[in-house]
Amino acid sequence: MTPLLRAEHVSVHFHARSGLISSSTVRAVDDVTLVVNRTETVALVGESGCGKTTLGRALLRLVEPSSGTILFDDESILSFDKGRLRTFRRRAQAVFQDPYSSMSPYMTVGEIVEEPLRIHGLAGSVESILEQVKLTPPEEIAAKYPHNLSGGQRQRVSIARAVTLSPEFIVADEPVSMVDASNRAEILSLLRELQSEHGIAFLYITHDIASARHFSDRIAVMYLGTLVEIGASDLVISDPRHPYTEGLLAAVPDPNPDNRNKMRKTIPGELPNGAEVPPGCPFHPRCTKAIGGTCEVVRPRPSLLASGREVSCHLYSGRKES
Ligand code: SF4
Repeated sequence: MTPLLRAEHVSVHFHARSGLISSSTVRAVDDVTLVVNRTETVALVGESGCGKTTLGRALLRLVEPSSGTILFDDESILSFDKGRLRTFRRRAQAVFQDPYSSMSPYMTVGEIVEEPLRIHGLAGSVESILEQVKLTPPEEIAAKYPHNLSGGQRQRVSIARAVTLSPEFIVADEPVSMVDASNRAEILSLLRELQSEHGIAFLYITHDIASARHFSDRIAVMYLGTLVEIGASDLVISDPRHPYTEGLLAAVPDPNPDNRNKMRKTIPGELPNGAEVPPGCPFHPRCTKAIGGTCEVVRPRPSLLASGREVSCHLYSGRKES
């Protein structure tokens, strides 16, 4: 596989005021290294507030990292001037959680989808793009306004706008979380279709590890700004190694209706905020497998297991695990 995007030791820290005179440093993203290969989908999974969206935005340079490097097609996007950033924006796009808030209510669907083409001085057929995202009949849909559409249709418009410029990389941030359950699978399979037709690589951001299994080649699990486990999706789901990944999977509802009333396990405690990252392993206050005297003091480094998966946990430090 050829890397398209390579983020190395990326951190996004910012200062938050916590009173009239005091402020604290929020470590939204902390020393993240991640590769997204061409035509690959990497799911970035974790609880709300763990830094997934900030990382996704940093990879598109919609927020400036505090440190680290981000290479796109072997070029550092952090050194791009305005002109090169504009070209990068054609090649790397975003689909956001709430399509309604990211489109003007005064523009028709046709104008919304055409806007990126106009900005970049490119030609293209709005109708054929609407057909690609299965918004038909395209002439009728193009004349509508966002408020005339269902949530699922609006998200398709947002996907149409993202693919208009034929990007190589799309950050899809919770693209189905505000869509009816009945439309979720359809929208994810549309993204899959577009990916195989156009060779797009995706970073699929989600809090739902169950949907990540069906829509990704690899899963990266994020906890409090850091990546704790990265590996092939089937492997991470069938045989999770990090205690946090195990906790996320144990909390997934059982699809079997006979087990509807079975209690789901939850991860104890709450996700701390990024201004109060615990010392040692950030997960140690919530971890049922914490090793006393080590986990609360020493931060685990990523260990590469024989299966090609990386896990940041003292249970695997220095071990040759399959
Ligand atoms: Fe739990 Fe320790 Fe592993 Fe952190 S390093 S996940 S506290 S066992």
